[in-house]
Amino acid sequence: MKIRTRFAPSPTGLLHIGNARAALFNYLFARHHGGEFVLRIEDTDRERSTQQAVDVIFEGLKWMGLDWDGEPTFQASRQDRHAEVVAQLMEKGMAYRCYCTAEELAAMREKARAEKRPPRYDGTWRDRDPADAPEGVPYAIRLKAPKEGETIIKDLVQGEVRVANAEMDDLILLRSDGTPTYLLAVVVDDHDMDITHVMRGDDHLTNTFRQAMIYRAMGWDLPKFAHLPLIHGPDGAKLSKRHGAQSVVEFREEGILPEALCNYLLRLGWGHGDAEILDREEQIKLFDIDGIGRSPSRMDYVKLSHLN
Ligand code: GLU
Repeated sequence: MKIRTRFAPSPTGLLHIGNARAALFNYLFARHHGGEFVLRIEDTDRERSTQQAVDVIFEGLKWMGLDWDGEPTFQASRQDRHAEVVAQLMEKGMAYRCYCTAEELAAMREKARAEKRPPRYDGTWRDRDPADAPEGVPYAIRLKAPKEGETIIKDLVQGEVRVANAEMDDLILLRSDGTPTYLLAVVVDDHDMDITHVMRGDDHLTNTFRQAMIYRAMGWDLPKFAHLPLIHGPDGAKLSKRHGAQSVVEFREEGILPEALCNYLLRLGWGHGDAEILDREEQIKLFDIDGIGRSPSRMDYVKLSHLN
């Protein structure tokens, strides 16, 4: 099996250091195994996506020396394909139309809050006869998610992770304006692009459970997942603006060399003995998923400045 990884940033702002590390790991893993590394720009959020942010991603990756294979894919250009998959799920009886209005959904959330339980769609339209559908009311399409049992992911970094299906609600696949949701688009694209390994921040873990449900409903094989512990600041809190530089551009503007940044990012969450500075060839030779640690890595900005 040819290994294919991807970097799938949303072009809505900076090339964040956490994303840059995910890109580096995906790149090194693919190159280590003689596979391919592809780039997918996840621009489905039309309001927040900008051309400027796309340029920042291209430039940042080039500066870091992470060359991708083939042309980048722009997710928004694949909406017809996303809708086609939803039509197939409808045919299989694995999805249904939900006519709930924004007010009804808000009331559902309010009720959940009052009862101190997590807000979940209550399944109003799951079993309702489509003949009851109100006329002229726009509808979203939801996945008929399994209610019994568990969804289990064998994550290459986190080990076996599981969630009770009763904890999850019927996620939206197509919004009432006909646009696909992020959860659906990622699954369809990863499947169609023959991605074998999905490596991304562990803040995506809850999405992964939901995405697994879409794979299973379509009868598709799941890729292997590797969720990377997030980068924290020196104080142990999730990396944020108050910790200083957060984007690749900021490091570059400070005069930090791309090799130094890549080396630093590599050692942030991946360990290989005591080797200090590894050049790209050595990085490719040594990198593998089993060297990725399970706990959050601490970024020590002062130390980073010393690398310059
Ligand atoms: N577009 C998502 C993000 O930038 C990443 C999606 C993924 O890696 O699956 O957070």
